[in-house]
Amino acid sequence: MSDYNYAELAAKDKQYIWHPFTQMRDYVLAEPVIIARGEGIKLIDVNGAEYYDGISSLWVNIHGHRVKEIDEAIRAQLEQVGHSTLLGHANVPSILLAEKLVEVTPEGLSKVFYSDSGSEAVEIALKMAYQYWRLQGEERQYFLKMTEAYHGDTIGAVSAGGIELFHAAYRDLLFPTITVPYPHPFRFKGRPEECVAHCLQELDNVLEARAAEIIGLILEPIVQGAAGMIIMPPGFLREAARLCREHGILLLTDEVATGFGRTGKMFACEHEDVRPDLMMLAKGLSGGYLPLAATLATDRVYEAFLGDYAAQKTFFHGHSYTGNQLGCAAALANLELFKKNDLVNQVARKAALLTGWLAPVNELPHVGEVRQKGFMVGIELMKDPAKMLDYVWAERLGAKVSHRCRELGMLSRPLGNVVVFMPPLVSTETELRAMTAILEQAISDVTGS
Ligand code: PMP
Repeated sequence: MSDYNYAELAAKDKQYIWHPFTQMRDYVLAEPVIIARGEGIKLIDVNGAEYYDGISSLWVNIHGHRVKEIDEAIRAQLEQVGHSTLLGHANVPSILLAEKLVEVTPEGLSKVFYSDSGSEAVEIALKMAYQYWRLQGEERQYFLKMTEAYHGDTIGAVSAGGIELFHAAYRDLLFPTITVPYPHPFRFKGRPEECVAHCLQELDNVLEARAAEIIGLILEPIVQGAAGMIIMPPGFLREAARLCREHGILLLTDEVATGFGRTGKMFACEHEDVRPDLMMLAKGLSGGYLPLAATLATDRVYEAFLGDYAAQKTFFHGHSYTGNQLGCAAALANLELFKKNDLVNQVARKAALLTGWLAPVNELPHVGEVRQKGFMVGIELMKDPAKMLDYVWAERLGAKVSHRCRELGMLSRPLGNVVVFMPPLVSTETELRAMTAILEQAISDVTGS
């Protein structure tokens, strides 16, 4: 017997909660899943039904739920203090974590600025980059961003994003940017090499003409997540980074989704040996336990902000919970587990197996493309792949597949017509096979193939 009254909780949920990214008129008509507990890579609802966490609780979970080491680290920190401010004061776990983050991130990143979400980490990077040039006496005005980019939901992050659906309502609030094309070979009518060459040429053209007005290039390295798991062809990131250097602009890499082992390397930049000027981290940073984010900067950026107080070079930014001790303690335990379990190499190894288990999904008649990098998977559904004919978005095919996955015992959340599969990094081979079988069945049932 469950201790919960589902009907009562569901009624109160609908009465009091405004859910994120959710059309509430539809939501209140459906039966919500109300999670009560977690165990390993499964979530259990108040009625006792179990679901695989097929999207790692929105791409954050690493080691599963109720991980002994992380639970204990948070409890131990609670015995000391829950939170104190980082504004002008320090605290123990945030210091220890900053040292570890500098150690594990690409060379050159030497300073850690904490915040609470990926959007904030992006917002902070944008403000740092903007102010950096002003502190050099240069009034650079524009960020370069990529088509279909997603960097979060705050106004700066939306300005740096390129997804029309999220932009449209706020257009007048956003600052102007310059957009360059992201290499998406599946949609590009030509060979992948031509797609890369075209995108690099466009980037080079903009930089040749306008580098002096440009603050930096912001991008999601290797995989554009919210765009539908679009994977950069090899070589693009390295070349784009080289062009940024050559033209003297900053490179801002948003590793909020790709960081912490997700793509089969600790950070996606490592695939192409790229060293950014600013790097944004969140999601997996605390192992998927607590809201914690960080923006890492090089000495070059950091030192531009040093000066007499009266010179007003201070970075005037900070949040109430910046550097929260509980989050930092969870993050330290998270990093320890990465080491102890050799997790990144395990992900790289299991990702190769996963490719094989996803092969039958790729054969389904309404699957246009299966895109995978490590444990980041996007399955693009199409009405007629041979004719490159999309389903009309209002048909909500992705949502229907997610609903069917739920019935079959896995939680997921689509991106339009792209079914997303982002299992916790700790998932075993048996669990991965079970989850891919659910995906195959759900897609087949919904598309009638
Ligand atoms: N950047 C990227 C690449 C993301 O995928 C996301 C969230 N999915 C964000 C930023 C925003 O992070 P948050 O939701 O923690 O604000």
